[in-house]
Amino acid sequence: MNEIQLELKNQLEKFRLQKIEPHMEHDDESETFRMDIFSELGSLGFTGMTLPEEFGGMGLSYEDFSIALCEIAKSSVSYAVTISVSCMVQAIINEFGNSTQKNKYLPALTSGSEIGAFCLSESGAGSDAAALVTSAKKCQHNGQAGYMLNGSKIWITSGGIAKTYIVMARTGEAGGKGVSAFIVRDGTPGFSFGKKERKMGWRISPTRELLFHNCFVPEGNLLANEGDGFKIAMAALDKGRFTIGAIAVGCAERALDESVRYALSRHQFKQAIFDFQGLQFMMADMATEIECSRLLVLQAAGDYDRGTPNAKLACMAKLKATDTAMKVTTDAVQILGGVGYTREYPVERFMRDAKVLQIVEGTNQIQRVVIARNLKKEYSTH
Ligand SMILES: Cc1cc2nc3c(=O)[nH]c(=O)nc-3n(C[C@H](O)[C@H](O)[C@H](O)COP(=O)(O)OP(=O)(O)OC[C@H]3O[C@@H](n4cnc5c(N)ncnc54)[C@H](O)[C@@H]3O)c2cc1C
Repeated sequence: MNEIQLELKNQLEKFRLQKIEPHMEHDDESETFRMDIFSELGSLGFTGMTLPEEFGGMGLSYEDFSIALCEIAKSSVSYAVTISVSCMVQAIINEFGNSTQKNKYLPALTSGSEIGAFCLSESGAGSDAAALVTSAKKCQHNGQAGYMLNGSKIWITSGGIAKTYIVMARTGEAGGKGVSAFIVRDGTPGFSFGKKERKMGWRISPTRELLFHNCFVPEGNLLANEGDGFKIAMAALDKGRFTIGAIAVGCAERALDESVRYALSRHQFKQAIFDFQGLQFMMADMATEIECSRLLVLQAAGDYDRGTPNAKLACMAKLKATDTAMKVTTDAVQILGGVGYTREYPVERFMRDAKVLQIVEGTNQIQRVVIARNLKKEYSTH
């Protein structure tokens, strides 16, 4: 890590231990999201890390951002995910929005006074996101040109607590080319919230259904051009993949930390359980897999920063890091034995939080599909 990264990591470690960690057991149980924690992270600059300073961001690289997300995830995967998705929304507006849209929506998002949400999935369009059917019909409404949105979205991270929603809706033909992206604000008439999901993990991060019933969105809220929506979503997910990987590394690191500390202090058969080779080998493998994952995540993030994004590597980083997080957190529960299975220790929470990392932003099967597709392309051009 360079000096900036070390400083970032140290600041976030201090913040998470003082301000986030003490609430985690209670908030996971009660499914409580604290806007004050998010806003405080914002006042320190951590909710707009990758955006340029002119829009209130910190202008950091994606490598720096990955290190920061990893650190936050060591206390809370939920807050790390909230920041990662909100930053994804900022990146979309910054990359594809016009100057009016950037000036209007970005400052509140970067400062952490508002949260952003990314809305692609529908009940019939999960892995096959291009099958989405929420419609946006061009129209005139009260003398204003725009689009009428009808349909629904599911699984939306920060649904209900976010103010700015990037909604992918169909303006044209079937498939990806007929999809457009819109900025929809909370409070827009015809836009409401449906079911809040009751989840195994990520319990602090609300996941909600969005409903659009004759929801009029002015022309000025269209991002880029009609038909660019799927391209915008896929570009966002390319970055989203290694950032989810970074969160997975933090989640796994915490589980390893809890495992080693416990194994050193717990005695059975008149010795620390750490000294049993069976457990030592497990922890050695956990540590090795975490380092492999971290290197892949940093490589994918660095490639993006250097202007040579590598979709295959980003998928590998997400796949490896999230599968590692699942394995490591499950092994952590095993190492702690009976207490690992209780809420007295945080490892079961990290195990529950790890599971969904294998599902979001493209399931790990879909990551393999993309990796294989790239392999085929590489070999067919040789
Ligand atoms: C907590 C949570 C938060 C989320 N947040 C958001 C959000 O903020 N915004 C958003 O838009 N979406 C969000 N999602 C949705 C998420 O992206 C989808 O759940 C995911 O893309 C998978 O879609 P699905 O659940 O419909 O599963 P399906 O697509 O129905 O997949 C079911 C199973 O089939 C497998 N499968 C499907 N297609 C293939 C294939 N071609 N080859 C091999 N296997 C395949 C999958 O890997 C999976 O195992 C969230 C989901 C969860 C659970």
